[in-house]
Amino acid sequence: MSDLPAVERVDTAAFTVPTDAPEGDGTLSWDSTTLVLAAARCGDVTGLGYTYAPSATARVVDGLLAGVVTGAPALDVPRVNEAMHRAVRNAGLPGVAAQAIAAVDIALWDLKARLLDLPLVRLLGAAREEVPVYGSGGFTTYDDARQERQLRGWVEDEGIPRVKIKIAESWGRREDRDRRRVSRARTVIGDTADLYVDANGGYDAKQALRVGRALADEGVTWFEEPVSSDHLTLLGLIREQLALDVAAGEYGYTLPYFEHMLAAGAVDCLQADVTRCGGITTWLRAAALAQARGIDLSGHCAPHAHAHAAAAVPNLRHLEWFHDHVRVERLLFDGVLDPGGGSITPGADGAPGLGLTLAGERAQTYRVA
Ligand SMILES: [Mg+2]
Repeated sequence: MSDLPAVERVDTAAFTVPTDAPEGDGTLSWDSTTLVLAAARCGDVTGLGYTYAPSATARVVDGLLAGVVTGAPALDVPRVNEAMHRAVRNAGLPGVAAQAIAAVDIALWDLKARLLDLPLVRLLGAAREEVPVYGSGGFTTYDDARQERQLRGWVEDEGIPRVKIKIAESWGRREDRDRRRVSRARTVIGDTADLYVDANGGYDAKQALRVGRALADEGVTWFEEPVSSDHLTLLGLIREQLALDVAAGEYGYTLPYFEHMLAAGAVDCLQADVTRCGGITTWLRAAALAQARGIDLSGHCAPHAHAHAAAAVPNLRHLEWFHDHVRVERLLFDGVLDPGGGSITPGADGAPGLGLTLAGERAQTYRVA
C-alpha cells in the first residue's frame, strides 16, 4: 500500500467573470459569475475541479477539506469523498460545504485519470460516445433581438436542436411577457427544434398549470421548476396534470435529496449538478437512483465538469449548455469541447482527465482569490 500515490496538496483559486449582458431568470438576477477552482496535486500531476459558488467556498476547501485530503490515497476517490463529507458535519453539508466537496471531488477524479494517463471517461467507462447538449440561456433580462440572436446561434450556427429559455419573470408577475417570449422563441427556432422553459420556481401551482397548458400548445416539452423545488407534492401534481416533462433537482446537495424527489414522483427527468451535489462520486449515484425508477438524468450547468461523467451514464437525457458557464469555461480553460451538431464527445482527443488546463494569463485577469 505504501507505494500508492497520495494527494500531496490541495490549492484553491477564485475567478469572477462579468456577464456579457445583464442576466436574470424568474427569481434572481446577476451581472457576474464566480468560479471556485480546486487543484489537487500528486508529484508533478495536478487535477482540476471547480464549482460556481461564492469565493468563500475556497475558504471551506482550505479550512475544512485540504487537511483531510492531503496525504489521502489519490486513487481511492470514494474514500476521500466520504472523509470530506464527515469533515463538514458541523458546518452543515447543503450549500457551500457540498460545493466545496464537489470542487475537490472533481479535482480528485481529474487527478486520478491524469495519473493513469486516461481521459476521465475511459477511467469511468463509457455508456455512450456522444453526450447530447441543449442550449440554455434566454434570460428574462434579454430584449427580443438578443434572445433571437442567441437562439439562432445555437440552432442555426451550432446545430443544437434543443434550447431553453427562462420564464416566470418577476416571480410570475409578467405572465403575458413570458407567453410572448415563448411564442417568439418558437417562431425563431422553427418546428423541428425542441423548446424548453425554466421557471426557476417563480410560479404558484395554479399559475404553473395555466401557463403549462399554454406552453404545451407551443410544443414546449420541458417545464423546469414550475414551482419551487421545495414543494415536491406540488411538483408531482403538476407532473400528473400536464403533458410536458417536469424537471427539477439543481439544488440537490445530498444523495438523500434526490431519493426524496424521486420517491415523491416529482419529476419526469431528474436534474443534478455535479458542482453542487458533492462531485462526480455523488452525481453518478444520483444517476443510479434515477435509473432504478426508469427516470432519465440531465446535467445542470457547468458543462465541462459534467461531460465525462455524463458519458458514463446510460440513462442520461442531456447536458445543459448554459450560456453563462460556457462563456466562463471558454475564458478560463483551454481544452473546451465543441457542441456542434448538438452533442459533445468527451475524451475524443485522448487528453487525460477532464482535458482542461487553466488558461494562464487569460484566466489570471479574472482572479479574485
Ligand atoms: Mg434551472
